[in-house]
Amino acid sequence: MYASGKKFITAYSFSKWLNNEYIPQNPDKKWIKGVSSKAVKKSIVNAEMAYKRFFDKLGGFPKFKKKRNQDIKMYFVKTDAKTLIKCARHKIQIPTLGFVRLKEYGYLPADKIIKSGTVSEKAGRFYVTVLTGEEAPKEKALLNERGLGVDLGIKELAVSSSGQVFGNKNKTDKMKKLEKKLKREQRSLSRKYKNKKKRGEKLLAKSANIEKNVLRVQKLHQAISRKRQEYIRYVISILVKTKPKYITIEDLNISGMMKNRHLSKAIAGQNFYYFRSWLIYKCACFGIEVRIAGRYYPSSKLCSVCGQLKRDLKLSDRTYNCGCGNSIDRDLQAGINLERCKKYKTA
Ligand SMILES: [Zn+2]
Repeated sequence: MYASGKKFITAYSFSKWLNNEYIPQNPDKKWIKGVSSKAVKKSIVNAEMAYKRFFDKLGGFPKFKKKRNQDIKMYFVKTDAKTLIKCARHKIQIPTLGFVRLKEYGYLPADKIIKSGTVSEKAGRFYVTVLTGEEAPKEKALLNERGLGVDLGIKELAVSSSGQVFGNKNKTDKMKKLEKKLKREQRSLSRKYKNKKKRGEKLLAKSANIEKNVLRVQKLHQAISRKRQEYIRYVISILVKTKPKYITIEDLNISGMMKNRHLSKAIAGQNFYYFRSWLIYKCACFGIEVRIAGRYYPSSKLCSVCGQLKRDLKLSDRTYNCGCGNSIDRDLQAGINLERCKKYKTA
């Protein structure tokens, strides 16, 4: 596709040359034909853009995209108005591949029109993401008069103003075991690299053993983050099932909190960003308003009975004791205060 000088072939003539000359003359490149023609076209157009940028001195020389890459991407698109890319809870119809069974249910929108999508591969697993058009109108669920305040934290993941407590899943034996396994694999990988260095070998040329180890590390990372996300979705499904009028959460200053060396790992593990975005998504499905309390709303420091502010409340004070006689679990009270919060923005 690239010729010296300022000449270069357009995407259209390249695809003609590819189909009529290059593939017939190079039988080992036949796999290109096995891929959806739309996907081939997309990668050709991508390459054309990259070369154009190169010639216009906008970008560097395009990188050659290998077939076997860290994350291979295949693109598909709904071509005309009549045909539909069918999608059900457990399967999706991908052009040229046909129906593909999904391993995890309920992520892809079965009730919307799919315009295009991408199949990608990471750590030996395939993922499909889709872009949808107009949403089919949904009946608004009947909601309760009461709202719900939800306090997010490290000791417990979430405590609601109605007293539901969802523990920190990272503290379970299963998760600790996975974390341990990950650490072990990471150590063995770095040992392999160190030995390579000692032998004076190039670090970029990965041996089969290293490749396998990398894959094991990636898979463990994925298993851990998938389990965390699964749990968050479970917690949110229970919160949403109570059909509150609104759900108020704190505006967590996550990047600020992450600066705390002692807390950053625990906070990262709680995945608050994911919690918030999945909450917003789920609540939108049911017409539940999501309220984000102002950043300086003292949800933990207010007494929920007399309204007094306890400025010197420490993170270690798990029970809130007030002069008015109120003695209450700190997180539950924060949830109650969030439910009552009047200064908020809606998400
Ligand atoms: Zn009080």
